[in-house]
Amino acid sequence: MPYQKFYPVSEPDISGNEEKYVLDAVRSGWVSSMGPYIRKFEEDFATYCGTRFGVATSNGTCALHLALANLRVGPGDEVIVPSLTFVATANAVTYTGACPVFVDCEEETWCMDPIAVQRALSSKTKAIVVVHLYGHPADMDSIRAIAESHGIPVIEDAAEAHGALYKGSKVGGLGTIGVFSFYGNKLITTGEGGMLVTDNDSIVERARFLRDHAMTPDRRYWHSEIGYNYRMTNLQAALGVAQLERIDSFLDRKREIFGHYSEFLKSSKALQLNPERDWAKNAFWLTSIILGEHIDRDKTMIMLRHKGIDSRPFFYPLHHLPPYKNRCRTVGKHGEDCPVSEKLASQGMNLPSGHGLKRADIQTICEVLLDVIH
Ligand SMILES: *Cc1c(COP(=O)(O)O)cnc(C)c1O
Repeated sequence: MPYQKFYPVSEPDISGNEEKYVLDAVRSGWVSSMGPYIRKFEEDFATYCGTRFGVATSNGTCALHLALANLRVGPGDEVIVPSLTFVATANAVTYTGACPVFVDCEEETWCMDPIAVQRALSSKTKAIVVVHLYGHPADMDSIRAIAESHGIPVIEDAAEAHGALYKGSKVGGLGTIGVFSFYGNKLITTGEGGMLVTDNDSIVERARFLRDHAMTPDRRYWHSEIGYNYRMTNLQAALGVAQLERIDSFLDRKREIFGHYSEFLKSSKALQLNPERDWAKNAFWLTSIILGEHIDRDKTMIMLRHKGIDSRPFFYPLHHLPPYKNRCRTVGKHGEDCPVSEKLASQGMNLPSGHGLKRADIQTICEVLLDVIH
């Protein structure tokens, strides 16, 4: 019997100069956290984001931690985060000793609701971490206006939105600090890896210092505070430089994949596809759907799986997870509940969005999906 075809949610495309550059890095002997590819990756990625500086890190979570530590967020502080995001957003806040405050999302962007952000502010609020969920930018002008009127910084968690545009500008450069991940399933990958981007000289200096054990630059083994080892290797950066050369073609491919899904699914009233506001250019990292309330999302996923079609549920609302349940404030548009995050979390799923998918594959996936839910 032939093997059934398998359609993965994501797969890296490493068919460009990746092998050549990694081999070059290996042969040069610069395999650790010094070497020319790190500088080049930092500079090229910052340029891509429209920022002055990039600081490469071992992963996206530590880039977030570095951003928060840099802004001296600590015990007794609150940081506003969306309730619907990957857990790392809130965990990085917790690492600093501060407390995450979870706010509801909006239907129109799947990102944090500015009205809820306004309601969540307190005298303890030290920062806002905006997440551009599944590739769609958050409503940055509204969120920045709130932050500015209270004199607090905005960190963008752009780990899922490389190359997405907000009113024509790249995400990552819209707040005080932007943070990216280059994990294997992200738009571009370094295996594991992350980056902090900013325009601010003193932030970049302090980020490099904290990344390297907080060692005083002109005095070896003199550590004036507790730092971290959050460095990226030259090998990872070599992979990153090659990936970055092709980022625009990856974004085109993701948009094309979304377009095919949209063509085959848009007539169904039982589901809704990724949003794209008129001021936004979605990165379409993962084509995703929200199923109607009468459809059992988990059962749908199991039935797709039997047909070789991979999928992922949306993240759980973070205030439902054991480390955060009943420990942190939650703030919605009208009260303490987060109905939009909860609905998206229970009815949302990510569909196969790997670079290798052909139009005919997507047609097959959509036929099976429509068959399952109708
Ligand atoms: C992937 C991701 C991260 C964490 O990145 P890692 O590189 O896996 O540490 C943080 N935030 C969001 C929203 C993510 O999707």
